[in-house]
Amino acid sequence: MRTVAVVGASLAGLSAARSLRKQGYDGRLVVIGDELHRPYDRPPLSKEFLAGTLGEADLSLETDDEDLRAEWLLGTRATGLDRTERAVRLADGREVRADGIVIATGAAARTLPGSEGLAGVHTLRTLDDARALRDELARGGRLVVIGGGFIGAEVASTAYTLGLDATVVEAAPTPLAGPLGARMGGIVSALHVDHGVRLLCGVEVKRLSGDERSEMGVPPDGVRGRVDAVLLEDGRSIPADIVVVGVGARPCVEWLDGSGVDLDNGVKCGPDGRTSLAGVVAVGDCANWYDPRAGAHRRVEHWTGARERPDAAIATLLAGGAVEPGVPRPPYFWSDQYGVKIQFAGHAAAADSVTIEAGAADDRDVLAVYRRAGVPVAVLGMNQPRLFTRWRKQLAAASS
Ligand SMILES: Cc1cc2nc3c(=O)[nH]c(=O)nc-3n(C[C@H](O)[C@H](O)[C@H](O)COP(=O)(O)OP(=O)(O)OC[C@H]3O[C@@H](n4cnc5c(N)ncnc54)[C@H](O)[C@@H]3O)c2cc1C
Repeated sequence: MRTVAVVGASLAGLSAARSLRKQGYDGRLVVIGDELHRPYDRPPLSKEFLAGTLGEADLSLETDDEDLRAEWLLGTRATGLDRTERAVRLADGREVRADGIVIATGAAARTLPGSEGLAGVHTLRTLDDARALRDELARGGRLVVIGGGFIGAEVASTAYTLGLDATVVEAAPTPLAGPLGARMGGIVSALHVDHGVRLLCGVEVKRLSGDERSEMGVPPDGVRGRVDAVLLEDGRSIPADIVVVGVGARPCVEWLDGSGVDLDNGVKCGPDGRTSLAGVVAVGDCANWYDPRAGAHRRVEHWTGARERPDAAIATLLAGGAVEPGVPRPPYFWSDQYGVKIQFAGHAAAADSVTIEAGAADDRDVLAVYRRAGVPVAVLGMNQPRLFTRWRKQLAAASS
């Protein structure tokens, strides 16, 4: 292999570039990323960076002395993949021909239709998003977070530490029921109420108010008014100076339309990141890997998967697909909210029972084990790092 192109210059792309060099690839390495920034870490964007306790320099994912001998094409969007020419097409008209291609284009924040261009309305995915939101939070005011998932919950928690008045609006009856199950989702999301943050569940947002022209869509100049309230389907109006839309993320794979790469909730991959095209692998948040344990494809949007899985994908790429894929560790993520470290590994949806093995739900220091037919399939910790680590190891051993 003489040239490998990595598309996406964030955690999964950087990890893939590192794996290539670590696994002995000595050829040309081109890393293409549409953001202007060098790879940076996203988890602090909703936590320490937003709170102002970490600066931009602290977010770098690269070490000072790191030299991957890569050509970095930053601020450059990939617009297509040409399977016949084996080339990545770029928005500026150039193309990069490559024998191996790593797709690592991650995910983008979903938006609320009709909220475009309305001042005071934010999503949070990139460093630029976080800078804009941090500046607004610093001015204070009433924050409404739409969506009680992890990012929404972390923003509410950070806003609380900054002294803002915060409300979380969640369409489902219980926040986090998808990733954690209804019972534990209820316990974790009670952290909002513990801290005086209003939590409104089971209600949809009708629209944002603050712009009389909003009914007519975005004006030609793109500039609209400023949000002043979130209107709910049940008729309530929640006053807002700042709104954060935290309604999930979608995989960034539009650029692969028509390329021959199978797309289904991201890039459909085997258990080692191989795609439907030879010489093309996918990693990170955009990749929907086959999980042999679950017998199904799962796209996980977690830091640890984006960091660890590229090793297997690069081994597959360099071996031309001729390696036996191992079983990846169960997915793992963490979240920090209101001073509580939340850790989760495995798949809650696979469980038929959940038991609290240590701690107490009311104290928010719980270790809960999810089982199916008596076999652990997932584990949740709230401020239980030691026990959690032990259980996570057991879970990995049980499922390998
Ligand atoms: C605010 C926030 C907080 C988080 N907190 C946690 C946490 O506490 N714990 C946890 O486990 N996970 C957390 N995550 C998730 C974690 O950060 C992601 O799983 C991880 O960033 C995924 O890395 P990635 O490289 O796959 O994708 P991304 O980080 O999304 O990077 C993809 C890159 O590709 C670029 N790109 C997209 N399309 C193109 C294109 N066509 N051409 C070129 N470049 C393109 C994107 O702009 C981006 O730079 C958090 C995420 C966010 C946003």
